[in-house]
Amino acid sequence: GPDAKGERLVILGAGESGVGTAILGKKKGYEVFVSDRGEIKEKYKDVLEHYDLNWEAGKHTEAKILNADLVMKSPGIPDSVPLVKALREKGIPVISEIEFASRYTDATLIGITGSNGKTTTTMLTQQLLVGGGLNVGMAGNIGDSFAKMVAEEQHDFYVLEISSFQLDGITDFRPHIAILTNITPDHLDRYEYNLENYIASKFRIAENQTEDDFLIYDADDAVITDWLKTHPVKSKLLPFSIERNVEEGADIINNNIRIRTKDETLKMTKDTLTLEGKHNLKNTMAGMTAAKLVGIRKQALRESIEQFEGAPHRLEKVLKIHHVQYINDSKATNVNSVWYALDSVKTPIVWIVGGEDKGNDYKPLMRLVREKVKAIVCLGMDNETIKDVFGNVVEPIVETYAMSEAVKVAYKIAERGDTVLLSPACASFDLFKNYEDRGDQFKEAIKNL
Ligand code: ADP
Repeated sequence: GPDAKGERLVILGAGESGVGTAILGKKKGYEVFVSDRGEIKEKYKDVLEHYDLNWEAGKHTEAKILNADLVMKSPGIPDSVPLVKALREKGIPVISEIEFASRYTDATLIGITGSNGKTTTTMLTQQLLVGGGLNVGMAGNIGDSFAKMVAEEQHDFYVLEISSFQLDGITDFRPHIAILTNITPDHLDRYEYNLENYIASKFRIAENQTEDDFLIYDADDAVITDWLKTHPVKSKLLPFSIERNVEEGADIINNNIRIRTKDETLKMTKDTLTLEGKHNLKNTMAGMTAAKLVGIRKQALRESIEQFEGAPHRLEKVLKIHHVQYINDSKATNVNSVWYALDSVKTPIVWIVGGEDKGNDYKPLMRLVREKVKAIVCLGMDNETIKDVFGNVVEPIVETYAMSEAVKVAYKIAERGDTVLLSPACASFDLFKNYEDRGDQFKEAIKNL
């Protein structure tokens, strides 16, 4: 991107992406103003001060904001807020952080989106590229701001975890390699409760791709394959599947993961994987395909995969006590990820579930719950739905309102050989700060047993 020579960049929201954009914007010659209607965290205030940036908190000074040449809106702010509408009406471009940051780097971009598996796939892909000796930055939803990294570091590759909210604010963002892990209903409140809008948003990861770029996607996901039939993309398609064989892309053949790109085939035994579950097999296939495309060799891939420990709070094995395995899957905030957890975990399961219900439909879990769950420990303020749906299937269902209590109850119920699984299917904001806090409290409670 060109130097801005004093153009006015307004940033709405002073979180990780807002502050990062401010740093990059200033470096590129924008006159930057950061506005957050709520409170700004101390650590971000410190950064704003350190970089000598102009900012306000607790309000939006509209006169100033509506005078911008360019606006970066943080992903947490919905399009429906009046201020954003006013900006659009005035014809002021409102973009997201990935859009802004990508204008200032020539690095090869690998963009990873989907409803579930983004973080795991992002971490794995990064590890595969680093293991292959490449200079890689990992940024986006996973934690660090992409914009700040572009401002202050030099990388040849970026592996980016990208939410649909970030994709809603792109115009030219074009990853050379895009990964679409899967699509299941989530965040529909931000998409007018219309699944099509949400799907369209996820597919924007490919909207600026050309024939030179790649889209890696789950071919076992009917939402994705159906959409592609009616909404073709220009990029080269590389599907991955654990159910059938594919021409190009990734599949399973005789217990081997097989990656096929235009001129080469690579095979590796599935037993190399340290992560459990079909979903992690898929995440691994996606990451391997990306790594293969950028030229990582088999030996390096194998070593990195063997070393990969997975992300915390995602089917994380905590401890074994009296031959009972405790597993922390606090990140499972929707029904689909719980499905994979129940599918991959050893039976019998004492399942800790619940929290802030987002209007969950638990029925898809019925078969697995019937087959594998011996007791349910509800943890949250609102357990009516869980009791209604599973009341006739599982006995006992115990209600608890604190993590220590939930873990104690599970401990009492569990017997030799059982698994205690925290996989909530719900948001955590009723009893915890966030899913990390919930997972940390789970681990703490286990250690205190
Ligand atoms: P995201 O970043 O998209 O939220 P994570 O890697 O953090 O994804 O995983 C979130 C939850 O979804 C975890 O409970 C994890 O076990 C589950 N999960 C991971 N990969 C997949 C997948 N490919 N399909 C379904 N569920 C998955």
